[in-house]
This record gives sequence, structure tokens and C-alpha cells, in this order.
Amino acid sequence: MRKIPQLRFAHLPTRIEPLPGIGAALGGARLWVKRDDQTGLGMGGNKTRKLEFLVAEAQANGAKTLITAGAVQSNHCRQTAAAAARVGLDCILVLAGEPEAQPSGNLLLDHLFGAEIAWAAPGSRDQTLKETFQAAWDAGKRPYLIPYGGSSPTGAAAYAFAVQELLAQELWPDVIVFASSSGGTQAGMVVGARHFGYKGRILGISIDERAAVLQERVAHLATATADFLDIQAGFTPDEIEVVDDYLGGGYGVLGNLERGAIELFARKEGLLLDPVYTGRAAGGMLDLIRQGILSPDEKILFWHTGGAPALFAGRYSNQLDRGESGDTQPVWIS
Ligand SMILES: *Cc1c(COP(=O)(O)O)cnc(C)c1O
Repeated sequence: MRKIPQLRFAHLPTRIEPLPGIGAALGGARLWVKRDDQTGLGMGGNKTRKLEFLVAEAQANGAKTLITAGAVQSNHCRQTAAAAARVGLDCILVLAGEPEAQPSGNLLLDHLFGAEIAWAAPGSRDQTLKETFQAAWDAGKRPYLIPYGGSSPTGAAAYAFAVQELLAQELWPDVIVFASSSGGTQAGMVVGARHFGYKGRILGISIDERAAVLQERVAHLATATADFLDIQAGFTPDEIEVVDDYLGGGYGVLGNLERGAIELFARKEGLLLDPVYTGRAAGGMLDLIRQGILSPDEKILFWHTGGAPALFAGRYSNQLDRGESGDTQPVWIS
């Protein structure tokens, strides 16, 4: 395996904790959580691991400005802004949507970290990103482009090493469950599993794509990541495990599944999930356990990827704060 440059700003290894309250609520499931919501940089999350490699690569290329793009409440953009601040680079974020009158959640944090925001109309994000990059280049800002979700081979490589870290923690789960979207987390995990000898399942709960699309993307990125690390390994879509039964109302739409999971984790464990990613992934996982598709004999690890700052985004906090009554009954508790 090739050695690649890495900065060190994440709090690693992240802890593994049991989830006894939720396990009991589900009739004795054996559940743990790996706390990548606590990676430490600017409220943490899975992008912080990727950024240790991406920002090192940017610096090696003589970059002065990090540029990336995402949704208004992007955790990736917020962590990129924090990483830029940490190492003294400028940061430009291309966000799809409308400027908020009162920035909240991740967007508020983007401002605090000093990022410049370029707003893109929905549908023209790629175009705005290109133009923003070109303008920064022309202005001598020496920009480095970080792709959506930090999911280049450089970023994904971080999750190969995260699997190595997990195996040293000696839990050896039968199945790892987590939120999968741009695919870098899952791609890195399958590369790490292959290289470091983890034999369990790596089950991505898709956040916003049909399984076939995400499997193809992850397999392609995993193969490229293995190649980047000089690991002899190739991946085909059928080797990538994705469940797409929980897409709900689409990306970023908070439904009963997400709300129920957020409340259950909060009330049984004092643990915060987020409305977009981990709420959906945990809701899916709980439903798979309830259906018996994930068996109670299996050791299940929920790999928490972060995102809780979005709980404080106006659009979600308004919907979450509905108290005991209303349509908050989790779908897996009949
Ligand atoms: C970005 C993100 C994910 C998805 O990770 P990918 O590598 O893009 O698949 C999951 N959870 C949270 C909280 C995220 O911010």
C-alpha cells in the first residue's frame, strides 16, 4: 500500500459505544455505534477524515483556496470551511439554493468559519462551480477543487484506514450500517475491508439514489481508490451492498422514519442523529431489524457519520419540535 500525505486534525480513533437502550427497545438486538460524529473538527462528521487527506493534497499542490459544493445544509461544506480555517487556507463554497435571511445550522457555521459563499440556482450547481473555480483561478487564488462529499480516491482512502482503525478496536461486527450518498465512505470501507481482512457485511443505506446507481458509483470509486493506494483490488456493483427502501420524500425531506429514529436515539441513548443522513440510515436499520432482515444474533455496528448541526437549521428544527403528540410514532413500533 502506498503512503499518502495526511494532516492530523481529526480526533482518532473515534469511540465505539454500546446502544443498550435501543437494543432493549428492539427486543434484544446487539447494537453498537462508532462515533464519527465526534471527529472533532468544527462539530465533526465523516468528511473530517477525508479532509485530512484532501487538504494535505491541496497543500502539496500549492493551493491557497479550497473550493467545494453542496446543499445549503451540507455537512461536507461546513467541515471543509472548518478545515480551511484550521490550516490557513481560504474557502469558497458553492451552495445550491437561496441565501437564508437568518443563516442557521451548517450555513451559520460556514459563515463563522469565514467561508465565502457562491449561490447557485438549483440545477445549475455544476455550472456555477465551474465558473467559480475558473474565476478563482484567474484571480490567482490557486484554487483546489474538492468534489461533492469529498468523494475522490484521495478522500475515500480515509475510510479504508478507518476500517483498519475499527479492526484494532476488536469489536468485529457482523454488519456495519451507515448512510451512503456520494459513495466515498462506502468505497473506502470496502477497500479497507478487502485489504485489512474484514469479512463482515458493509451495508449502505442509500440517502438519495436508487441502489443500482449507488452500487455502480461505489464500485467505480472503490476500484479507483484501491488503484490510488497501490492495492491490487477491483470491485463490481454486485459486491456493493446498498438498501434503497428508505428514500422517502427525497434528499433532505424529513419524514416519520427520520423523526422516529432521531427521537428514539435521543430518548434511549442521549445520542443525536441528523435529519438528512443518519436519521434516515438509523431509521432504515431499525426497520431492517424489526423485519428480521438483520438478525438479532448479529453484532450490528451503526457507523455514525455526523450531521447534527442540521438539527438547528430552521427548516428542520421547526419540524422536529412537535412534542409528544402528532405523527411522530416511529414506523417500526406498531
Ligand atoms: C456526507 C455524509 C454522509 C454520506 O457520506 P458519503 O461519503 O457522501 O457517502 C453520511 N452522513 C453524513 C452526516 C454526511 O454528512
